Amino acid sequence: MHSHIRMDKDGNLPRREELNSLKQFQSAGRGYWSNVSETDWSDWRWQLKNRVTTLEQLQQLLPTLTPEEHAGTVLANSKLAMAITPYFFNLIDPADENCPIRRQVIPRVEETATAPWEMSDPCGEDSHSPVPGLVHRYPDRVLFLVTDRCAAYCRYCTRSRLVSNATHYDFHPEFDRQIDYIRSNPAIRDVLLSGGDPLLFSDEKLEYLLDRLRSIPHIEFLRIGTRIPVFLPQRITPELCGMLRKFHPLFISIHSNHPREITTEARDALGRLADAGIPLGNQSVLLRHVNDDAEVMLAHVQKLLKCRVKPYYLYQCDLISGSAHLRASVRRGLEIMEKLRGHTTGYAVPQYVIDAPGGGGKVPINPDYVLSRNADRLVIRNFEGKIFEYPEASDGTPLAQPPKEIAEPEFVHVS
Ligand SMILES: *Cc1c(COP(=O)(O)O)cnc(C)c1O
Ligand code: SF4
Repeated sequence: MHSHIRMDKDGNLPRREELNSLKQFQSAGRGYWSNVSETDWSDWRWQLKNRVTTLEQLQQLLPTLTPEEHAGTVLANSKLAMAITPYFFNLIDPADENCPIRRQVIPRVEETATAPWEMSDPCGEDSHSPVPGLVHRYPDRVLFLVTDRCAAYCRYCTRSRLVSNATHYDFHPEFDRQIDYIRSNPAIRDVLLSGGDPLLFSDEKLEYLLDRLRSIPHIEFLRIGTRIPVFLPQRITPELCGMLRKFHPLFISIHSNHPREITTEARDALGRLADAGIPLGNQSVLLRHVNDDAEVMLAHVQKLLKCRVKPYYLYQCDLISGSAHLRASVRRGLEIMEKLRGHTTGYAVPQYVIDAPGGGGKVPINPDYVLSRNADRLVIRNFEGKIFEYPEASDGTPLAQPPKEIAEPEFVHVS
C-alpha cells in the first residue's frame, strides 16, 4: 500500500516525512480490486469496462463520501459524467477529504454554481473552429479534436461542454473535413491531436489518422495531448509504442498535476514512450488543494524529469463553469513559479500561462524579473532577489561607453 500525503484543513503544507514519501515511486496497488486476475487488471479494456461511474459504486468503495460529493455525483450526469479507472481510483486516500486525487475526479456540488464570469467555452474554441472539431487559432498549427471520450473525467475540464457528452453537445468529428482543411492550408505545419483522449482509439484507428496526416507534405510536426499515461498506463503497450514511432517527429504532452499520480505504473508507461523516441512534455493545471503549493509542485516537476518528461505548461485554471472551488489565484501561481526558477533544474520549470478568456491563446505569466528599463540600462533581479544592471541603450543598441552613473566597481556579481 502506498503512503499518502495530507494537507491540513486549509490545504496547507504537508508534513516533511509525507512530502518525502511523495517523491518515491509507488504502485497504485490493487486496493479494492484484489480479487481480479493479473491479466484482467493489466488489460486496458478491462480497466475501461470496470470504471467507477455510478453513485452506488462510489458509496460502496468510499465510505467517507461527503454530502458535497454525494450531491455532486447525482448532478454530474447533466454536466460532466463521472468515470474513474480502478487503477486511478486506488490513488484516492479514503481518509482524506482534501485528497488531491479525489478533488480531481470525484464530482462536488460546487460544480453546479456558476459565477457570472465563468463560461462553458472559456477559451473561445468554438468561435475559432473553421470546421467542427478543428481549432485554428495560431497561424501555423491546429488543434485537432478526435473524440469526446476520456479514460476518466477531470472535474475542471476546459472542454467539459463536449467531453463525456453529458450536456448533449453531440460531438461527431468528421475526419475527412478536418483533414481536407489542413491539406488545403499550407501554412499549417503542426497538428495537435486532442479531445477527449486520442489514445483511447484502437492502435488501428489511431494509425489510420496519423498516416493520413503524415501524408500531407506541409505537416512537419505531430503531437498528441493525452492523460492516458496517468489514468490508464496499461494502454501504453509495446504495440502502441511500436506504431507511434513510425510517425516521428511525434511529441506527446501528458497531463498530470500531483506527484502521487506518478506511480511505478505511470513511470514504466512513460519509459516505454520515451524509449520509442517520443519526446514527452507535461501540462499541469494549477488547482486549489491539489498542487497550489511550492513544495508539492517542486516534488512533481522533479519526479517528471526522472521519467524523462519535461514540464511544459502550468495553466492557470480556465474560467470553466463551476470550477471556482478548484481555482487557485494567479498570485499563488506566481509565488510557486518564483520558488521553482533558479531553485531547481531549468528543464523542470514549466511556463506558467493563462489561456486568455474568450480566445486570445496562451499568454505567458512570469514573476517580474525586469525591475526597470532606463535610457542606458536594464535593472534586473535574480532568483535570490539580488539586483543587477545590464547596460544597454533604450533603443536596444549596445552602449558605446559604460552608463554614466554606474562606475565599474559598483557592479554586483553573483558569487
Ligand atoms: C494550446 C493550443 C495549441 C498549441 O500551443 P503551443 O503553445 O504550440 O503548445 C494550438 N492550438 C490551440 C487552439 C491551443 O489551445
Ligand atoms: S483528460 Fe483532458 S480532455 Fe479529458 S477530462 Fe481531463 S482535462 Fe478534459
